Amino acid sequence: MKHKIFLAAAILAIFAAFTAGGCGSYTSSLDSGQESEQFTFAEYPWVNSNIIGRVPESYRPSPQEDFYVWTNHDWITSAALKPGNIETSGFSEIDDSIQANLIALMSDSSLQGHDADLVRNLYALWLDWDARNSEGVKAAQNAFTVISSLNSIDELTAYLASKDVNAKNRPSLFEVNVMADMNDSEYYCLYISPTALRLEDSEEYKSLTENGARAKKANDAKASYMLQRVGCSESEAQAIMDRAYNFEKAIAEYIMTREESRLPENRAAQNNPVTYDQLRSMSPVFPIADMLISADLVSDRLNLILPKWLEGMNALYTASSLEDIKAYLILRTVADGYISRSDEAAYREAMKISNEQNGITENAPDTESAFTFVNDMLPKPLTRIFVNKFVSSETKQDITEIIQDIIAEYRIMLQGEEWLSEATRAKAVEKLDAMKINVAYPDKYSDSDTINNLNIGTVSEGETLVSAIEKINMFNYECYSSVLNTRVDRNIWADEKVHQVNAYYNSLENSINILAGILSGDFYKPDASREENLGGIGTFIGHEISHAFDPNGALYDKDGNLSSWWTDEDFAAFSARVARIIDHANSITILEDGTKWNGSYTQTETIADIAALKVILNMAAKTEGFDYEKFFEVCASKWKRVATLEGISYLIQADVHPLNYLRANAIVQLFEEFHETYGTESGDRMYLSPEKIKELEVW
Ligand SMILES: [Zn+2]
Repeated sequence: MKHKIFLAAAILAIFAAFTAGGCGSYTSSLDSGQESEQFTFAEYPWVNSNIIGRVPESYRPSPQEDFYVWTNHDWITSAALKPGNIETSGFSEIDDSIQANLIALMSDSSLQGHDADLVRNLYALWLDWDARNSEGVKAAQNAFTVISSLNSIDELTAYLASKDVNAKNRPSLFEVNVMADMNDSEYYCLYISPTALRLEDSEEYKSLTENGARAKKANDAKASYMLQRVGCSESEAQAIMDRAYNFEKAIAEYIMTREESRLPENRAAQNNPVTYDQLRSMSPVFPIADMLISADLVSDRLNLILPKWLEGMNALYTASSLEDIKAYLILRTVADGYISRSDEAAYREAMKISNEQNGITENAPDTESAFTFVNDMLPKPLTRIFVNKFVSSETKQDITEIIQDIIAEYRIMLQGEEWLSEATRAKAVEKLDAMKINVAYPDKYSDSDTINNLNIGTVSEGETLVSAIEKINMFNYECYSSVLNTRVDRNIWADEKVHQVNAYYNSLENSINILAGILSGDFYKPDASREENLGGIGTFIGHEISHAFDPNGALYDKDGNLSSWWTDEDFAAFSARVARIIDHANSITILEDGTKWNGSYTQTETIADIAALKVILNMAAKTEGFDYEKFFEVCASKWKRVATLEGISYLIQADVHPLNYLRANAIVQLFEEFHETYGTESGDRMYLSPEKIKELEVW
């Protein structure tokens, strides 16, 4: 239920050769053996400048032609990808400096305390190739033997129901998550969701996209390698991979596509409170209720995200599918789970396959891979070390004041929306006033009272990387299962990795969360001008607040319960406004193969960007001598990003946010202040007529 302004997805890479004509026309040649395609600006308002190498030095548009490239030209044309990375951006630059600081701290033996011991030991275990090589693929081999020897559905059920599998976070046929109950946000609820699909999106099993094909090829290569490492022949490995795919293809028919699951109109269908007895009668063949109970996952509040998936499991959980299901569990456990966590040969093979998939030519340094691993496994200890060392309470205070100013402006804006009834406006303001503000770092973490129970030793103490991973997974299981049937502690944040360069709105508690990481670089500086901080962190804050009122936020009340507070008439009027933005976005071509911006899929994020700019410009209008040029340039520079074509094509398919260059150009052009500042005229590519701007007004 979180909305991120930036998706740190594991994305890909491709090669794109590019030549440019004059400013009026563009010629693109994709070096793929196909005939080169020509495109002109008549079809493409702006070149997709998020792709590395796409903007040549000679292309120097005016701000009226392409504001994003005009602002970021020198950065875009000189940006390079770090080894092992598929993108570089304003966000990744901050992320890199945080990472460098934390790597230095993890290597610093003078750092004291339990958190420091944990992260330092885990980091050292990851980097100790001698120790990892002496363990080899033993853990993967054991898992392979255990799953392979399940001889009946009953034995499979016993395996899936065991506390060992659940507490150690081993791949299963269902997933659980503990969060605030969307029907009574005062209490925690156990959410049950479908098993993970190795191609991420059920749509891929109906019709494989280019991204899906790249992922499948890499998954297959890793699976084949690991299965042979644990003793299979090449043809035995292939047979297991084919069987696993059969199961995934069959269950995918019952699982919403990624796009379906994220559309606001499908939110209510994903709210299905159930009891264990109801689960038993809904699922007589796949005994999920008793599996949960056996694993000590006993909750007064259960929510089944996707009842249709459970229907599918009841159709497929039979003796005739046993080998297919086992094959799926083997691939997720042995290949996906262990390839990067076994010995050096397996890790290097995984890197080679991923790099080939992503078009990456140089490996990330081992220290960075080890950091990424520690960051995933021990985010809270790492975040506390970061906060103690690098974040001041003054920052927290300053940002809180900026947020209060922006909220005050939102209040004025909402009260002035005359197309809304008095009743809806009053509810909106009530929700705004109840919003919880979380800045920089929490006062308490979910593991504050228990982290001393987790101990990770060194190699000389007999610890291995795999034993450490199991300890951490079991510790996490104890943490989340212990809060079942208790009241939600509002001091604890939904995402506690606050050194991330990110911010989010949490609809389940009506909170905005501006994390320490995003306050650690160019987006906020205590001594920057008002224009710079409003164009940077100010618009991020405005974006997150807007999620309380967007098509998703409209479904949740001020306390985080799924309960619409709009009148039907007002919501219809709002939906009509949103539909015009969706249509407008859908009309914009973003890749030369004809791919259009998916306006529907990205609707809430687009509207959040629009609302943010609107409210900040309202503040600007009240500021004497406001420097609009400086402000708009910061608005465009904060979205600077280049990535490989594969990376961008993955984002177009998977990310709910518009591409970064669109978040600059397509948003600023919706505001008269932009056109007044730069004097755009009819015929300019950034130009929109006042009538069109009026037509596209959301707030
Ligand atoms: Zn957002």
